[in-house]
Amino acid sequence: MTIATLSHVKETLGDLHAKKKFGQNFLIDANIVDKIARKAVEEELTVIEIGPGLGALSEMLLKYGKRLHAYEIDEDMYEILKAEFSDEERFSVELGDFLDVELEKVFYHDEPIYICSNLPYYVTTPILFKLFESRLDIRKITVMVQKEVASRFSAPVGSEDYNALSLIVQYLYDVKLEMNVSRKVFYPSPNVDSAVISFTPKVKRDYEYEQGLFSLIKNCFMKRRKTLQNNLKDHYDRETIEKIYAELGLKDTVRAQELKLEDYKRIYEVLNEK
Ligand code: SAM
Repeated sequence: MTIATLSHVKETLGDLHAKKKFGQNFLIDANIVDKIARKAVEEELTVIEIGPGLGALSEMLLKYGKRLHAYEIDEDMYEILKAEFSDEERFSVELGDFLDVELEKVFYHDEPIYICSNLPYYVTTPILFKLFESRLDIRKITVMVQKEVASRFSAPVGSEDYNALSLIVQYLYDVKLEMNVSRKVFYPSPNVDSAVISFTPKVKRDYEYEQGLFSLIKNCFMKRRKTLQNNLKDHYDRETIEKIYAELGLKDTVRAQELKLEDYKRIYEVLNEK
C-alpha cells in the first residue's frame, strides 16, 4: 500500500476534510516521502513521529527504522491510523498534543532514537524547542518546515533573523538543509513552499552548562533594539559588565546580534570567573 498518493488520501479522508486548526496538509508524493524517510533514518533505530496524519511518512519511516512511535492530536486521524496499521506490530500511536508529552518519562528513555515530522506549521517553534531541550538520546531530528523558517536557522551574524534561537541551535547541532519541497506535493496545497531540515547533535550534552549559557543568550536578546549593555544591566551589576567589556574588548554600542557564539561562551566564562 502507498499512502502518499492523491487518490489514497482523498479516499481515506472520505467525508472528512483537512483541518486547518491542526495544520493538516498531507503529503501526496511517495518519492518525496521516501526521500525524507531515508534522510531521517540512517540506522535501524526507533523513530518518533509527530503528527502522522494519515500515515504517509509513517509508512516510509517503518521501511527503514526498527519501530515507530507516533503522536497525533486529531482523533479522526488516530482512528484512521489504528485501522491502517493494524497488522503492523512495529507501529504505535498515541492520541494527544505532543507538547503535553513528558518525553523523559516514556519507555524508550535511554534508547537512541530519531525524530521525524512533517510539522504542523502553527506549532513549529514550540515543538522544536521541546525537542532541543529534551534529554532523550536523539541522534537526528529531521523536519519539514516552511521554507523561510528553514533559512532562519542558518542566519548569519548581524542579520535580522539572527536571534537567541539561532545561537542555541548553532551550539547544539549541525543544521542541514536536506531539500526544498514544492507546495504541490501536499493536499491541500499550502500557500508557501517548504523545506526539510535536519539537526544532528554536535556536542556532548552538559545540561547545567547549557542552561546557564542559554539563559545568558536569551537575556542578551531580550530587548533587541537596545545595546548589549542595556540588556545586561537588567541582570548583572556594573562591575561585572565592565569586566565583560574589558575582557572581550567590546564597543559600548555593540548589540546582541553582532556577537558570535564564541563571544557568548567567553562572556559566560567571565561571569563564572568571579
Ligand atoms: N504526517 C502527515 C503527512 O506528512 O502527510 C501529516 C502532516 S500535517 C502537516 C501535521 C499533522 O500533525 C496533522 O496530522 C495534525 O493533526 C498533527 N498535529 C497538529 N498539531 C499537533 C500536536 N500539537 N501534536 C501532535 N500532532 C499534531
